Amino acid sequence: MSESQPSIDEAFVRAMPKTDLHCHLDGSLRLETILELAQQDRVPLPTKGAEELRELLHCGKLCDDLVDYLKAFDITCKVLQTEAALRRAAFEVAEDSARENVRYLEVRYAPILHTNRGLRLDQIVQAVLDGLQAAEHKYDIKTGLIICGIRNMTPETSLRIAELAVAFKNRGVVGFDLAGAEYDHPAKHHREAFYLIRNNNINVTIHAGEAYGPESIHQAIHYCGAHRIGHGTRLRESGDLLNFLNDHRVPLEICLRSNLQTRAVQSIPAHPFRFYLDLGLRVTLNTDNRLITDTTVTSEYLLATQQWGLSIDELGWVMINGFKSAFLPFREKKMLMRKVINEYQQLASARNSISEQLESATNQHLDV
Ligand SMILES: [Zn+2]
Repeated sequence: MSESQPSIDEAFVRAMPKTDLHCHLDGSLRLETILELAQQDRVPLPTKGAEELRELLHCGKLCDDLVDYLKAFDITCKVLQTEAALRRAAFEVAEDSARENVRYLEVRYAPILHTNRGLRLDQIVQAVLDGLQAAEHKYDIKTGLIICGIRNMTPETSLRIAELAVAFKNRGVVGFDLAGAEYDHPAKHHREAFYLIRNNNINVTIHAGEAYGPESIHQAIHYCGAHRIGHGTRLRESGDLLNFLNDHRVPLEICLRSNLQTRAVQSIPAHPFRFYLDLGLRVTLNTDNRLITDTTVTSEYLLATQQWGLSIDELGWVMINGFKSAFLPFREKKMLMRKVINEYQQLASARNSISEQLESATNQHLDV
């Protein structure tokens, strides 16, 4: 890279076509929306002030561990108990994503957490699908929905939720996940749910290797048939499994800031992202929770770029990894990829021509 080449800045990253494959609906609301929904639906919140609420949701703050981080969801789920609220939250997360040029978004949530006011599970799924669809009509974004079971709930509950995912296959639901407290709650306890999911040819992604070691990733892959891994931060502890995931091109949904906040890593420089990228693993960058982690896709890409000095090619590689890993039909994915690669090349060459102009301006200046 020549001295005069401009560093990759926020405007460039914002303009890039991007994906977000790991984004929780209930962790990605707008703060004002929580306050408005609480007032409208008469939901008591621990505070009425925006700043205090931000503090309680520990937006962007370090937590003790994953379980502590997950406490914020008790507050957000309280206001997501009506169809209108779910529809609005889904629309807004897709709108916020589209505004930073996320072109493919997979939103995930656990429908079982939204039954407190009597909604049926099918209403809960349909409302979110309606919100996402409305955003697709308005913006240049494609979306998919991932249904989550919860590790610390019973395997029977997971099976019920898996049946729900099957019922909504080809109607917007593109995958099934297991979220919640990882430590002490092994994925293999829920294998019956995954057996049903896999027998119905539904995609699987599982949170693993975030708050537990590589054994958890091993279970996700070999007991539950995961096609992607949520986080995989601790995969580096097993070279053998790491090679297996690399050989089989199993994508990792990496969420840098969230990994720091849940203490899956002690610092950003200590994150294995660069190590994985250099080994050729299919790493993708994602938000996890736009509100609770206080982040955006642009911000996650920028963080990686600045921390590890990613080149234009490396950044493009991570971006393409995201599109390659989408739970989309092959042909549709290919068409989308062709389009975004073309866009990225144009952006990169426009940037190069700016850098050439800068170089010639600098040279002229030197001549004087
Ligand atoms: Zn997550």
